[in-house]
Amino acid sequence: MIRQVTSIDEIKYLTKTFHSKKKSVGFVPTMGALHAGHESLLKKSVSENDITVASIFVNRTQFNDPDDYKNYPRTIENDLHVLEKAGVDILFLPKYEEIYNDDYRYRVIENSLSKILCGSSRPGHFEGVLTIVLKLLNIVSPAKAYFGEKDYQQYLLIDGMCKALFMDVEIIPCPTVREKDGLAMSSRNLLLTSDERKTAPNFSKVLRNAKSAALAKARLEELGFKVDYVEDLYKRRFAAAFLGKVRLIDNVQI
Ligand code: AMP
Repeated sequence: MIRQVTSIDEIKYLTKTFHSKKKSVGFVPTMGALHAGHESLLKKSVSENDITVASIFVNRTQFNDPDDYKNYPRTIENDLHVLEKAGVDILFLPKYEEIYNDDYRYRVIENSLSKILCGSSRPGHFEGVLTIVLKLLNIVSPAKAYFGEKDYQQYLLIDGMCKALFMDVEIIPCPTVREKDGLAMSSRNLLLTSDERKTAPNFSKVLRNAKSAALAKARLEELGFKVDYVEDLYKRRFAAAFLGKVRLIDNVQI
């Protein structure tokens, strides 16, 4: 049975015990509504570490839109099933009040990459992400922590933060897991209507096939996406677009 822990003192005590027994700890932070994308991170951690800790925390400070936070899918029963199946040892379910005991007065700010792509249309988003990840890494103190390339900008920022702050953790990137039709798996896909779900696979197809970012943007708009950005950077094509109320993001190698 997976052990569920909500208290910060308790999880710190447990991870210290593992360290003293020379057991390696792998960590997979999530916001829940787990799917095969999360599962691949969990399985990688289980295969590379003695103990795997996963967390579920829908981190309010990274949502610039209160409705997005309110509507974010919460599927704890299914999540427990996915975690058990993957062989996770401990599920950390922190409480907002304990995590943000400072009322979010202290924050991590990055001044370059976090201001472009998703950062320019979601002010404060990466501040919230970096702050929660720093807090969780300090609490769990894993040897390795696993992040998905689906959120490639997020992965780069977290890896950069850990290096800039000399943190003793290895950040492991994991490939994007996709549905058979090419749509990147995401908890937000659950919020698509059935018509939107039929259109959604065009997102990655167009990003992959268009000759330029500008052509990809134009084609996506023709198909009914409301494009936030398509940009080529670091030999990748990054994009975000709305289908109805749902904001999808993806990136592909070019
Ligand atoms: P989230 O619950 O959306 O915060 O995601 C938790 C972790 O799972 C993050 O590191 C994500 O990048 C990763 N992740 C989410 N979807 C996928 C996917 N389709 N493939 C690989 N990793 C993913």
